[in-house]
Parts: sequence; structure tokens; C-alpha cells
Amino acid sequence: MSSWVLCVCGQKLNKNLFAGNQWKILVPEESIDKDTVTDSDLNCIIVKSKISKNCPECGCLVVVDDQNNKVKYYKELVV
Ligand SMILES: [Zn+2]
Repeated sequence: MSSWVLCVCGQKLNKNLFAGNQWKILVPEESIDKDTVTDSDLNCIIVKSKISKNCPECGCLVVVDDQNNKVKYYKELVV
């Protein structure tokens, strides 16, 4: 698992969480749909969840799915 992801614009994005890289963790609703969420649950959520952020260079939304080794890029449509 690389700690970098390359945006479509060529910008290299550091995937390191908790280092001020402004990633958002996409948490499936069912993983927090319980009375008590433990530290272990949180670790599991962080490891298994997709992460996303806007590329600071081109603005597109980058969604990284490390579980499936996939990266998707979304660009806002201005109509
Ligand atoms: Zn970009």
C-alpha cells in the first residue's frame, strides 16, 4: 500500500491520515449503528473505510479505496 496517490492533474497527494493532510474518512452508516462504538471499532473503521479529499491543485474530489486498491476522481460539473 503506497502512502501516495497521484491525482489526474499530476499532483502527488500524501495519504497519511492524522498528518494535517485533510482527508475525510467515509464511514459506512452500519458500522456506527450500535449502542457503543469502541476504540477497536474505530480502528477497524479507519482501516476499512474509503478516504476522500479535494485535490489542492485542480479541485477534483479524490476517493481512495485501499481495501480494493481503487482510486476514483470526481470533477464538479458546471452547467
Ligand atoms: Zn488534481
